[in-house]
Amino acid sequence: MAKYKYCPLCAHPLQVGWVESRQRSYCPQCDFIHYENPLPTVVVLGLLDDQILLIKRGLEPRKGLWTLPSGFIEKGESPENACLRELLEESGMTGQIQQLIGVYHVDSSLYGDLISLIYYVHLDPGHPIAGDDAADAALVPVSQVTDLGFVSFNHAFQQFIANREE
Ligand SMILES: [Zn+2]
Repeated sequence: MAKYKYCPLCAHPLQVGWVESRQRSYCPQCDFIHYENPLPTVVVLGLLDDQILLIKRGLEPRKGLWTLPSGFIEKGESPENACLRELLEESGMTGQIQQLIGVYHVDSSLYGDLISLIYYVHLDPGHPIAGDDAADAALVPVSQVTDLGFVSFNHAFQQFIANREE
């Protein structure tokens, strides 16, 4: 991940030092401290009649991979709203959140630390149409899904299947 070199408040060069129990960048001129926190993301495990909604990623990381719709929570937005918004933007579909499957910590080479909230969504009847940063979208029989490309997604999917078969 790229690091800030200059203070975003006063443009003075940042220094790295021991601040509040960690190595952090800070500004010696205006006392700005660059806290680096995980970014919150939402992931949609959407099902309709034993089919799972997959999108083909149009952006890095893992461009071209078939996987679950996902995205960042925007300022002022609840995780649930972000989940349904990403669903609509990437696939044109709507649905109802049934359950939070899990919360995962991910170290992304592109974005740094992420916290992923993975939701099970019951999809309303319809056909997916790829939009936003999805290159394609499809409903795929659950039995045909073997790898969703990300450890956290696979873990959530396996957990979901195991719970469903109990
Ligand atoms: Zn400053």
